[in-house]
Amino acid sequence: MTHQESLYGKTPDQLAALCGELGMPRFAARQIARWLYVRHTEDPLRMTDIAAAHRQRLAEWFSPALSAPERVTESADGTKKYLFRTLEGHYVESAYIPDGERATLCVSSQAGCRMGCRFCATGRQGLQQSLTAAEILNQAVSLPERDKLTNLVFMGMGEPLDNTDEVLRALEIITAEWGFGWSPTRITLSTAGVVPELRRFLDATKVHLAVSLHNPFHEERMEIMPVERAWPIAEVAAILREYDFTHQRRVSFEYIVMSGLNDSPRHIRELTRLLNGIKCRINLIRFHRIPDSPYFSPGDEAMVRFRDALTARGIQTTIRASRGEDIQAACGLLSTRLKGGI
Ligand code: SF4
Repeated sequence: MTHQESLYGKTPDQLAALCGELGMPRFAARQIARWLYVRHTEDPLRMTDIAAAHRQRLAEWFSPALSAPERVTESADGTKKYLFRTLEGHYVESAYIPDGERATLCVSSQAGCRMGCRFCATGRQGLQQSLTAAEILNQAVSLPERDKLTNLVFMGMGEPLDNTDEVLRALEIITAEWGFGWSPTRITLSTAGVVPELRRFLDATKVHLAVSLHNPFHEERMEIMPVERAWPIAEVAAILREYDFTHQRRVSFEYIVMSGLNDSPRHIRELTRLLNGIKCRINLIRFHRIPDSPYFSPGDEAMVRFRDALTARGIQTTIRASRGEDIQAACGLLSTRLKGGI
């Protein structure tokens, strides 16, 4: 235990162990969790139902973990992009996306990413740091719109299943009744398909899953997503066939449409074959062109044609509206710029 350690991001079991080490009653863990996650206070001196001497000890031992965003950029459509700095000094981004009654926050799980997807600005940075549960949660609780949030998506910087321990801890805190008390159906985790961690995630939580698909052919997907070499999308699909997505939990496939690259009739046929037996939806996303990229955005008509062809084959398909393009809300662009990466 060091003075750098924080209380925030710990579960009641972890807090109970710490209470034991500090000579405090273990039941204080529940009280601390309540202050942290229900009352959003991480200053031990304000935890007034804990004995004064114990409060003092906690204040001496633990440092604060929460910090306000360093920068915010607002788009004409109301999307806001927040830039947070981690304790190690790296930048991570979150996008706040209001949409009628809904307000979704897109959070990052890592600073940078080592998956190397060719169409992604974050992939160019490489991995700098996996975030702690506290740093993941900080993005949701330290923004002015905290109390307006209705949905959370793990689709920002990083591959959540390359940081599974901390992501699962954050999810536990968000969904537990002693924590934020959110229904898991308000949360979606997006993965490029880290096969060894996928079952663990599916067994540990009930949150929705989104899989970055982008091309159904092994050789072609490998060209844009190196992760395909180690963990082919066919293996991901095989695992998903073992789980039930016919009730509350949903699985969707994200498909960034890149003109002339992954939008042909051949791709439609292969997508139908690959997803056979999985109750799912495909979300088509128009490619956001990033500087120096060889890939191009398709036109409106091409997007609609592609959607209709998939729908005709029995796959529920929607075109996701692009939000925040004027502030580079595509994952990783803003922090890459700040680091001089583009
Ligand atoms: Fe990583 Fe996601 Fe970007 Fe791929 S798309 S490099 S998994 S952040």
